[in-house]
Parts: sequence; structure tokens; C-alpha cells
Amino acid sequence: MSDIPQERRVLTAIPGPKSVELQARRTAAVAAGVGSTLPVFTARAGGGIIEDVDGNRLIDFGSGIAVTSVGASAEAVVRRASAQLADFTHTCFMVTPYEGYVEVCERLAELTPGDHAKKSALFNSGAEAVENAVKIARAYTKRTAVVVFDHGYHGRTNLTMALTAKNMPYKQGFGPFAPEVYRVPVAYGYRWPTGPENAGAEASAQAIDEITKQIGAENVAAIIIEPVLGEGGFIEPAKGFLPAIARFAKDNGIVFVADEIQSGFCRTGQWFACEDEGIVPDLITTAKGIAGGLPLSAVTGRAEIMDAAHSGGLGGTYGGNPVACAGALGAIETMRELDLNARARRIEEVMKGRLEEMRAKLPNGAVIGDVRGRGAMIAIELVKPGTKDPDAAATAALAKACHAEGLLVLTCGTYGNVLRFLPPLVIGEDLLNEGLDILERAFATL
Ligand SMILES: *Cc1c(COP(=O)(O)O)cnc(C)c1O
Repeated sequence: MSDIPQERRVLTAIPGPKSVELQARRTAAVAAGVGSTLPVFTARAGGGIIEDVDGNRLIDFGSGIAVTSVGASAEAVVRRASAQLADFTHTCFMVTPYEGYVEVCERLAELTPGDHAKKSALFNSGAEAVENAVKIARAYTKRTAVVVFDHGYHGRTNLTMALTAKNMPYKQGFGPFAPEVYRVPVAYGYRWPTGPENAGAEASAQAIDEITKQIGAENVAAIIIEPVLGEGGFIEPAKGFLPAIARFAKDNGIVFVADEIQSGFCRTGQWFACEDEGIVPDLITTAKGIAGGLPLSAVTGRAEIMDAAHSGGLGGTYGGNPVACAGALGAIETMRELDLNARARRIEEVMKGRLEEMRAKLPNGAVIGDVRGRGAMIAIELVKPGTKDPDAAATAALAKACHAEGLLVLTCGTYGNVLRFLPPLVIGEDLLNEGLDILERAFATL
């Protein structure tokens, strides 16, 4: 790991003068469609700290969107990827293969739920993994329809835009979208009309009714769901929802795909979030946390489903790049050695305790409507006092106040009113608490 002191340090305004200068160059050279949460330019990062070009050290509650769970310069990732880099950067696995790719697939077979025979295919991005899961499910079932859920997020390519629920900013103006994609309700406990205790049973019944009546179960190739919804607002489907949908898929020969791209690899305190209710998906898509920051993604699943696509039907020039595979092996080694599942559960304990305290302390019109999430995937949903009306303005103001104090936080949610916390799992507890102190003070600025 790079030896960055694990201490917050704010020396300049945030962003500082050097970042402002770089931002001007960026605005001239980089397409406007690529945004940034906080235009602070990074010099180095590691543990729970991002150091910028002005020498400021920010506490990282984002992990580059749930990617650097082992830190942004984890020793085993740097060591293995550097060694691989010196040996060779690329041959293309489809031209002459290499061991690292096979080893990552072996690890995926061990770590993902279920003791059935499993195989994997590797790609570069999360969206690419989801696209390939759809290809594989269609080849296996010889059906075309794909079912996804309200508030779901699956990427920015053409097919995955169709799978994604939210229009702005992901889809607006970018259509037409791929056909044969159908969206059904999800058990969003906090906003379910009859309350969270009924959401699991009622939402699954509604979703299944829509699938059978509007699509026809016999036409459905795949049902794709995030076991904890990420961009949509860190929504844990109410208990009972996922098992009901998984059972329905099984009974109807539909491939059940868990999109664990954000929730996987120790993020929720288990290797995969679907383990929480004992779900064994037919296919799992992974990316983000898999390789300590290097671009890698995978589809893993039942061997007979994974083998349904003909030879040459899957792949890509860079898929399973050897340096990224070495990074993944280093990240997995780190997760095992440091028991990052236990670390994630401890982060949940600290964060939820503090956030509930903050909610209790806020004057009667508490703006914190809901505290939720699992492991180190925790969020608060902000609402107008005394209502459940989403308060996107308060959310943006809180994020801004945190940024000014050197705490990097991200927002999400269909209504833009969720503040989400995704610290690296290796963050020190003192930094974690300091970040929460900053958040607490930010509430006073509202
Ligand atoms: C981020 C994300 C994706 C897309 O991954 P990219 O690497 O950005 O293409 C897909 N699904 C989920 C659940 C994600 O969080």
C-alpha cells in the first residue's frame, strides 16, 4: 500500500487551486457528458484516504463507487499486477490463453453460492458482464424476454440502458432502447404503500402476476435483480421478495441472474449479498470490487447454462486482461487474509449506530427518513420533515457540506435523495468516525 498518512488534512478550499486549474483543462478537453462528483484531482490514494494535487487528504466514503474495497493501492494487488505487467500486458485470451484468467474463474467457482458445477467468462466492465449474462440466458433458454425491476441499475450500454430504470441522467436522449425488456415492481420497504412488513409478499405477488399475465413466463429468458439495489437507492428488497422471485424463476425454467456488481465481494459483509436469504442464483454478474480497481468483470454460473453459448460466441479483445486478473487474485487474497467480510459487518455496526443517533438528535422534523443497507453499503434517505417527500436539495446540500470539510460522499436514488456510504473495507475506525462527525456537523448547515 502506498504510505499515505491515514489522516484527513484540508489545506486549501476544496477543490484547491491546482485542481481548479486542471478542471479548466479538463473542461476544454473532456466531453461534457462525463461528469464528476467532486472535481478534486487525485495524486494518490490508499486505505481510507484520497490525496489530491493540492495536498489535501480526503476521507473516502466512496471507494470509486464500491470498487476499491481493499483500498486503492492494496499491497497484494500492486505486487501481483506489477509482476504481471513486467511479464506481459496482453495476448488476448481468445488467441493464446494464460493461467491468471483460469485461476480467477476457479476462485469465482469457489466463492459464489451453491456447490453445483460452475464456469465463468471474464469481461471488462459491469455493463459488459450484464450484456453477456443476457446472451447466455437467451442461448440456454431459446427465449427472448428479460425481466428487470423498478429502481434497477445495470449499466450504460444500449442493452443495459434498457435494463436500467432511471431516465435522467442514464437514458435521456439516448434511445431507441433494446426490445424485449420488461420492468416489474420491487419490494421497496420504506415506500411500499402497506408498509415494509407486507412489501416482500405483496411486491413479489405483483411482479409474478405481471410476468405471467403481460409477458408469459414461457417467454422469459432471464430475471435480473441486484440483491441490494445500488444506484436506485441502496434498497434491500424486503424479506421474502428475493426467495419468491428465485422460486418462480426455477419453477418456470427462467435463468435467475443476481447482479452483484455493486453488492458483491465482501461489500455487504458476505461474499455475495444474495447469501443473506440463502439464494443460489443461476448466474451472477460481478465487477467493481473484484480486482482492487483494475477493470475486470465476470459472469459466473451453472456449467450447463454457461456452456450454452457456442464457441466464439462470447469474449472480446480485452476480456479478462492478465494484469486485471492478477489484480483480482491480489484483491481476493486480501479479502481472505484481512477477513474483510467481518470488517464490513463492523462498519455497518458503527455507521448504523451513529446514523440512528443522528436521526434521534435531529429536531422533530427529522430529515432522515430511513437508515438502511448492509455491511459497508449503508445509506440514509432524506425527506421533507414530517413527510416521505424526497428531499434532493437537502441531500445535495449535505454532500456539498461534507465535501468542503474533506469527506467524500456520494448520492444516489431514483429521487436523488439518498446519501450513500461505501468506504473502503480497510478504512480505519478513527477515520470512519471522523467522517461521521463531519456528516453530523453538516446537518447543522441545513
Ligand atoms: C456499476 C454497476 C453496473 C455497471 O458497471 P460498469 O462497470 O459501470 O459498466 C451494473 N450493475 C450494477 C448493479 C452496478 O452497480
